[in-house]
Amino acid sequence: MPHQMKKFLCDEMCLELGRWLRAAGYDTVIIDTPIPDKEIFKKATAENRLLLTRDKDFKKFDPKGKIVIYLRSDALDEWAKQLKEEGINWLFHPFSRCLHCNSLLEKITPPLDLEHIPKHVKKFWSCPLCGGIFWLGSHTERMEDQLKAWQNTFFKD
Ligand SMILES: [Zn+2]
Repeated sequence: MPHQMKKFLCDEMCLELGRWLRAAGYDTVIIDTPIPDKEIFKKATAENRLLLTRDKDFKKFDPKGKIVIYLRSDALDEWAKQLKEEGINWLFHPFSRCLHCNSLLEKITPPLDLEHIPKHVKKFWSCPLCGGIFWLGSHTERMEDQLKAWQNTFFKD
């Protein structure tokens, strides 16, 4: 990986990409409130995060491109491909982080009072910060298929 850092900060223009980075297991902060560019850049620097953005204005803070990764396209698949070229492993550690708040998930025993969960589901994780509960099912399978596709199909160019 050309960049030694593997933590990320996404501005609000690429928040969907940020959620996918969390799904792949990367520590990713998503800025979803209006904050001045300079503050966003400062936060990324202070926390050793690579800043993912569509906003060319950030280049003035980081002329050598050490912190800012400027996303060239405006399509999710293209972003995924670009990050793959930057060294992202889309199968890094899938579903280890909360998609909502970025915390590391903890394994828990199945809660008895939850409805709408298929009986065969045995493994549960919960988020210590936001209280979200997750399990492996058809939804995560579809997401994993997408991560595998990004990881495995971009060598054909
Ligand atoms: Zn959470």
